[in-house]
Amino acid sequence: MKDVLVIGGGVAGLVAARECAHLGLSVAVLEAADAVGGAVGRQEVAGLLLDSGAESFAVRGNTVAAFLDDLGLTDQIIEPNPAGAWLHLPPNRAGGAAMSVPLPAAGVLGIPGSPLADDVRRAIGWSGALRAYADRVMPVLKIGREHSLGELVEKRMGKKVLDRLVSPVAGGVYATDARDLEVDVVAPGLNNALTTVGSLSGAVLALRTAAPAGSAVRGLDGGMHRLVAALVADLERFDAEIRPATPVTGFRPVDTDTVAADGTVTSTRTWLVDLAPESAAADPADAGTIIGAAPRTLEARHVILAVPAAAALALLEPLGVDFAALAALDWPAPAAVELATLVLDAPALDAHPRGTGVLVAVDTPGVTAKALTHATAKWDWLAALTPAGRHVVRLSFGRAGAGVPTLDLSDDELLDLAVHDAAAILGVDLSAAQVRGFARTLWSDGLSPATLGAPDRIRRVREMVEATPGLDVTGGWLSGTGLASVIPDAINAGIRGRRAVLDL
Ligand SMILES: Cc1cc2nc3c(=O)[nH]c(=O)nc-3n(C[C@H](O)[C@H](O)[C@H](O)COP(=O)(O)OP(=O)(O)OC[C@H]3O[C@@H](n4cnc5c(N)ncnc54)[C@H](O)[C@@H]3O)c2cc1C
Repeated sequence: MKDVLVIGGGVAGLVAARECAHLGLSVAVLEAADAVGGAVGRQEVAGLLLDSGAESFAVRGNTVAAFLDDLGLTDQIIEPNPAGAWLHLPPNRAGGAAMSVPLPAAGVLGIPGSPLADDVRRAIGWSGALRAYADRVMPVLKIGREHSLGELVEKRMGKKVLDRLVSPVAGGVYATDARDLEVDVVAPGLNNALTTVGSLSGAVLALRTAAPAGSAVRGLDGGMHRLVAALVADLERFDAEIRPATPVTGFRPVDTDTVAADGTVTSTRTWLVDLAPESAAADPADAGTIIGAAPRTLEARHVILAVPAAAALALLEPLGVDFAALAALDWPAPAAVELATLVLDAPALDAHPRGTGVLVAVDTPGVTAKALTHATAKWDWLAALTPAGRHVVRLSFGRAGAGVPTLDLSDDELLDLAVHDAAAILGVDLSAAQVRGFARTLWSDGLSPATLGAPDRIRRVREMVEATPGLDVTGGWLSGTGLASVIPDAINAGIRGRRAVLDL
């Protein structure tokens, strides 16, 4: 019997477990994969230890920095190269070539604060900039509550701003079509500022002024995966049990009534958590299909569910008709993305021709990738580890609604495509002969909580869980994508969990 079982060993699960373990509760983290960390993963490519998923965190709210401080990692926090990102865009006029321009500086999610600025005109041309400027004189007809980011942008600033500035950024961050994103989730405060200031570009400038100076993200010296290593070390120090390769197949409450001598009835609840048979551990997707092997069951006073959306809904569904109704809601299909990491000997990249990375607009001819990170340009720690002329670039494939175009490619085919796209995006000649290392990673269960209608669905999940004693739920699908949302939400789940167990 544990005080707390945490299902899912991504950052959310590890952080929630830590809150409980620090107060002396007995805690175990059950993780389906062979390693904990979830989307904050690591991989070795050409002798370099690299992030395989998340590689930075947003500074907003200072929540991640405060948490890293608590873990003793403050002196490891680093800023990325301020050079910033670029855009790779379809030609501005028929018959032209694809073009690369720096991402305009004064924007929020690609929405320009100064529509006539040089860097904006370079991306969307004079006609696009003048249409965007019309926003300044357009009345605000709908006071304060536009839902779709894409519709808001197109209505006020025109299609070029949407297609050439906002969609590439939104697709890069949320793997979701800008039209399907809830404004209030992806740009909190924008709707209110729009009502107050009277224009979208004015609202963007107001948000920019209120934001802290400098880059909006930070990283960790050595890679974001060091956060996971530090969490694991800390949990082990507090005797928490971490069990990788342990997929959970189901869990259920058991309520026991105890009658005292005076007739008073006390009801206690524990949870039984079923683990996949030992042999199924390597592949969580197969966990339910093994027949004949006896399932293993653990017991706990409190359960914190910290797995991605599809797995969470599948585990919650059998808990009752209300949970089944939740699972049956109109949840969007999870977004998938495949990453191809290349380590290249390419001195032409020493000049960082496209800053720290590039976002690619939909329908840009000649390129399949939707984004590229030039990791050795972005992070000094990585550049310091690589010899002169050697570079790490990471390309991502897969747009919302369009599937992952690389799924059926062999490793050799994907490598060739990645080299081809990197050359086109970075504007240099590259060949497979320059590749010193290659890795591919598929992330298939991302569900953006920023899609239209998501806030209501999430509220219903939270209400249902809140009404279920001994159960809590956390994770990016509820809190918002990204560590700046995931960590504070998980801390709160951990605090609620330890209060429940300690009966505070
Ligand atoms: C490619 C990529 C790049 C990203 N880049 C950034 C970035 O730069 N900055 C940023 O802030 N955020 C970034 N994010 C988002 C961020 O990584 C996530 O929001 C965050 O890591 C989610 O954490 P989580 O614990 O909620 O979920 P996850 O990391 O998905 O962890 C959930 C865990 O549950 C486990 N699990 C699933 N089913 C079961 C089961 N039945 N039993 C037991 N365990 C189970 C999974 O194996 C997984 O380890 C990125 C995400 C991806 C995919």
